[in-house]
Amino acid sequence: MAIDVLVVGSLHYDILVQSDRLPRTGETFPGSHWMTKCGGKGGNQAVEAARHGAATAMVACIGEDEFGGRLLDNLASSRVDTRFVARGKTGSGMSVAISDPAGDYGAIIVTGSNALIAEADILAGVAELGPDGILVLQNEVPEAANLIVARAARARGARVVINAAPARALAPGLLALIDILIVNAVEAEMLGSRAVEDLSSAVTAAAELSALVPAVIVTAGGDGLALHTAGRGTSIAAHRVALVSTHGAGDAFVGALAAQLARGTELEQAMAYANAAAAVLVSTAEAARAALSPDDTERLLR
Ligand code: ADP
Repeated sequence: MAIDVLVVGSLHYDILVQSDRLPRTGETFPGSHWMTKCGGKGGNQAVEAARHGAATAMVACIGEDEFGGRLLDNLASSRVDTRFVARGKTGSGMSVAISDPAGDYGAIIVTGSNALIAEADILAGVAELGPDGILVLQNEVPEAANLIVARAARARGARVVINAAPARALAPGLLALIDILIVNAVEAEMLGSRAVEDLSSAVTAAAELSALVPAVIVTAGGDGLALHTAGRGTSIAAHRVALVSTHGAGDAFVGALAAQLARGTELEQAMAYANAAAAVLVSTAEAARAALSPDDTERLLR
């Protein structure tokens, strides 16, 4: 069976610690809670695409360690095809984050095996991407890997979506292969747009960035999102929901959008669906998110 959505990107094992305050240099300070989470923008987006019904595969590289095993199990239990996830000879990508009740936050990310994503796995994955398929990229693996896979996917007639996160400059050679660019407020500014402060500045930012790529989506958190394509700008307001955590909002949006595009939904309608999927996610506690289904999104759209 052909792959609908191919995600080439990162897997991180995240360790989250809560403490009354952040430790000072050289200090050992007691924390109150901890939790672990399978993350990485690539992994999160693949899980979301699969949740929204797309036959989804991931190309990635994990380490030969226990964290790698957990990352792999999480993808498999989320019905993501893991045949193109390799094991590299270094530690898995991971992060440690400490946060306090005031919302202060410190984190360290180790790229680890994500830097070793291999051309052979990339090409094996793309070879199964259907002509109506969607390739999804982010900025957490080397740009050389993104370039190889974007070129191969375009040669097969597939569409290329990049969520340019975290912010980094994009090589002109890569930009020329992108069909849809998705950025949040910070990333839009980093790529040269004006500041995004509300929905109307998001519309302007999307228009400014449309010089780079045929279709640009600028997400603006709880305000909603803007699209600029074919010389025309539009926007969609965010759903009003009881907010639990905005963590992962962008990944939910990208994964749901890719799943809709792969089934032939037109871009504006796919965006409306993804806007609802992201709203459902931000109004659901981390521990309950694995149980979400497309029905939850459809209910918000009714
Ligand atoms: P990122 O997580 O990449 O920073 P955003 O914060 O812009 O991305 O959020 C992505 C999308 O998630 C938004 O465009 C919107 O559809 C949805 N979203 C984010 N925050 C909220 C919120 N508070 N209420 C409803 N929807 C939200």
